[in-house]
Amino acid sequence: MKKFPLVPPLSPILPNRGGARESRPSSILSLSAEISKFRSRGRDAAKLIERRFAVASCGLDGLDLTSGEGIAAGRKAMADKKKVFVKSYGCQMNVYDSERMTEAMAASGYAASESEKDADLVILNTCHIREKATEKIYSELGRLKARKIENPSMRIAVAGCVAQAEGEEIIARQPLVDILVGPQSYHRLPELVAEADKGRKPVATEFLADEKFDRLPASTSPKKSPTAFLTVQEGCDKFCTFCVVPYTRGAEYSRPAARVLAEADRQAKRGVREITLLGQNVNAYRGEGAGGRRWGLARLILAVAEIDGIERIRYTTSHPRDMTEDLIEAHASCGKLMPYLHLPAQSGSDKVLRAMNRKHTAEQYLKIIEKLRVARPDILISGDFIVGFPGETERDFSDTLSLVGEVGYGQSYSFRYSPRPGTPAAEKKQVPPDVASERLHRLQALLKSQQIAAQESMVGRLANVLFERKGRFDGQLAGKSEHLQAVHASCDDSLMGKLAAVRIIRSEPNSLAGEMIN
Ligand code: SF4
Repeated sequence: MKKFPLVPPLSPILPNRGGARESRPSSILSLSAEISKFRSRGRDAAKLIERRFAVASCGLDGLDLTSGEGIAAGRKAMADKKKVFVKSYGCQMNVYDSERMTEAMAASGYAASESEKDADLVILNTCHIREKATEKIYSELGRLKARKIENPSMRIAVAGCVAQAEGEEIIARQPLVDILVGPQSYHRLPELVAEADKGRKPVATEFLADEKFDRLPASTSPKKSPTAFLTVQEGCDKFCTFCVVPYTRGAEYSRPAARVLAEADRQAKRGVREITLLGQNVNAYRGEGAGGRRWGLARLILAVAEIDGIERIRYTTSHPRDMTEDLIEAHASCGKLMPYLHLPAQSGSDKVLRAMNRKHTAEQYLKIIEKLRVARPDILISGDFIVGFPGETERDFSDTLSLVGEVGYGQSYSFRYSPRPGTPAAEKKQVPPDVASERLHRLQALLKSQQIAAQESMVGRLANVLFERKGRFDGQLAGKSEHLQAVHASCDDSLMGKLAAVRIIRSEPNSLAGEMIN
């Protein structure tokens, strides 16, 4: 079997193949102009950004926020609005869903709040994938009790996979919950809140993904970040024996390509430059395309790449079984598709992969990695691993270590197996916790050394960085490289939301330090 280099060769990565553009979206430009005005008056630009977006969410775009009249009108509009705070747990799909729920409530007159303290509606958008997820939600609800006593008209909604899995049991255990809404019913939030205001406790946990996407309203106000998630696929038909997703998110569903492209176009017009296409099995995407023909993910990526303003495309999470030849080829042909792929392996043992019902072998996984590296030699591979799966022996675990050694991961997520009630693996004889923990420790040491090696290989190289937030220190901005590595550099605030060339000068524990080049 081919042995891969621990650190993939990195090609010069400036500019993006496919043409990085230097023009800035108009919404970002007008924001910069406003920030400059404030700076010249000695005010804090961050406060302006906050008010700018808050006012935009009130539908008052166009106010001159530097005038006394504009500031007063903006403040009044904000004070008059009800507020929604969404706390998101778990994966990027939940982050995307949280944004869409905020937008759904904005259409009903709610402004987004950064905190539960002044919120009239608190939504906990839950995740069921990790251990003790349900208990975490109950402890969060316990914390909210004091707020609810202070403000009985505040509504509390539990959304997401825990709501789907636990259903009315949540309200039975914690009666302060007003609304339960599963992942496929977010479009119904405004009507559910209205029902709760009448003293009912509505529960919406139907599987109607197509209806949800059709009916969720879409914001057109400027976006704070130049990056956005876009869900293209939901649900899963794979039934891995450790996973609850097929039970909480339902069967695989792909959104029609035209709707995905319309949303990507809208995001581009809001100032977004990087889109991450999301799905539980994103590369199982089979959406309806032009003329009723089914499009795969590769076709969709190429179409998104045509959208003016979108400079970078990523996708996650993929299943090895669905890494089609045309998708691998897209990594060679589409310059806007970033050289990064998160491809969970879970184990390097065929016996364990079979018990997990992963439907691929270790060799098939390695073959995919080999093809990807032929298509895009500098691609950075990220992986997921579960250690201590029922029946895993020391020999099986050493197969996992071998696979990791062969692939050379630049990033990774690894966990000790923990049973999810209702899944087949939960019924099997478990590996003793101390054995699983010790294996996890060894695996994580190897993965960490690979991550450090991948970061250190960047020192002295050029990276194209999309700056998306302030750095830890004054005068710094931070963003992501093409390889999804966090990079910070001292530079002018005007680069916020822009792609810029950075020379990497140092590797730090979880990020890279860079300096600007002209
Ligand atoms: Fe869960 Fe497996 Fe489906 Fe991924 S592929 S969502 S791990 S069942």
